[in-house]
Amino acid sequence: MPIKSRCPICRKPSVQEFRPFCSRGCRDRDLINWMDEDYRMPVAPDEQDSLDREEG
Ligand SMILES: [Zn+2]
Repeated sequence: MPIKSRCPICRKPSVQEFRPFCSRGCRDRDLINWMDEDYRMPVAPDEQDSLDREEG
């Protein structure tokens, strides 16, 4: 049965590969959004080079 869901970022029909988003861009954006807000995601060792921001 057809699954009709929409990208929570831009409201376009979502693509199966990136569900519930419509594209990798929107998926990444969502990820960045909540990382920005909460910032508690365990960071992969590879990406741990710019973590010297201080929290306010
Ligand atoms: Zn989208």
